[in-house]
Amino acid sequence: MTPEPGETTALAERIKARIRAAGPISVADYMAICLGDPEQGYYMRRDPLGLAGDFITAPEVSQMFGEIVGLWLAHMWEAAGRPSPFALIELGPGRGTLMRDALRATRIVPGFLDTARLNLVETSPVLRARQREALAAVGRQPTWHGSVDTLPDMPTFLIANEFFDALPIRQYERRDGAWVERMVGLDDDGGLAFGLGAGRLAATDTPVAVDGAGNGAVLEMAPAATAIVSRIAARLRDRGGAALIIDYGYARAATGDTLQAVRRHAFADIFTTPGEVDLTAHVNFEALAAAIRTEGAVAHGPIEQGPFLMQLGLAERAHKLAAGRDDDTRTTIREAVERLVGPEEMGQLFKVLAATPAGKSAPPFDSATLAPQDR
Ligand code: SAH
Repeated sequence: MTPEPGETTALAERIKARIRAAGPISVADYMAICLGDPEQGYYMRRDPLGLAGDFITAPEVSQMFGEIVGLWLAHMWEAAGRPSPFALIELGPGRGTLMRDALRATRIVPGFLDTARLNLVETSPVLRARQREALAAVGRQPTWHGSVDTLPDMPTFLIANEFFDALPIRQYERRDGAWVERMVGLDDDGGLAFGLGAGRLAATDTPVAVDGAGNGAVLEMAPAATAIVSRIAARLRDRGGAALIIDYGYARAATGDTLQAVRRHAFADIFTTPGEVDLTAHVNFEALAAAIRTEGAVAHGPIEQGPFLMQLGLAERAHKLAAGRDDDTRTTIREAVERLVGPEEMGQLFKVLAATPAGKSAPPFDSATLAPQDR
């Protein structure tokens, strides 16, 4: 959507005032304020999901997504020896749709729902209310957390769909052999603009794969994402369980500026209306997998969402769901499958990464036909 000339927001004015007073801020700080400012942050005041909102996610495309994820979690719980009690956790549950569908599907798994302690990590009061409603419809009351720090210390079975893309990233620009931190400052007219700061990325933190990058290349680091994944991996190592991370992103460390703003299903400007647009960055799955391994847990994948869902029976589930239904419903189901697995749609860009304790396998990751792709 093209912003109106001169369009601004109260949050934009506050950020500019802060920069005028104290100097440029990191891209990570800019993202964190735009998304999470308690009064004017993007997620704090709205439900951004759905047709009338800004974007649509896989669980909102079809109930089949949450069902498959739920059955995967229940399978991993059974394979772990049915620990009881255990924490069933979702990070960034949006409208609660995925968890609702997962809980409905796992009723057929004896003991799973009875022993599950449902814990949601969510900062948005608006979305917490939506989640409460969605889960009340299946008779469940979750416990909410503002961060992963307060999650219960027990065997953990966790899902995060389109959560990590919303976490703040830092950006670095290549200048004469160094990675110099990109900052958000003010241009000559007093508007928000990128500039370079004094910060340099330490050579030890630089992925080998980007060593030869030329001037102007952009490298992204996601310290907040890494910290959260490390905590989860440590929990899996100590208490057992499994985690599934699904998001758009890349399987191998690479350069590229992936910071993007989205409003009403179209790309928007990052600086024009902060607080009114969703800001995300592609997820670096190689970095997340490395963080999992550093904690002594096992990273499975990443693999692409298309093969992941197909191997776990999406086509069969769609077939069953469509049986005996009218033409419109069958078309809707067929289109949902295409949207979830089509290579031009969500099937290839979205990746799935699992984590388990050492010595555990996780379907369908350990099958030889599904080597990670270099995308
Ligand atoms: N998983 C859902 C929603 C994705 S949108 C789905 O697939 O439909 C991102 C979700 O993460 C929202 O619920 C948002 O409020 C939440 N979120 C974003 N940043 C967060 C943070 N720092 N801590 C906790 N939740 C966050």
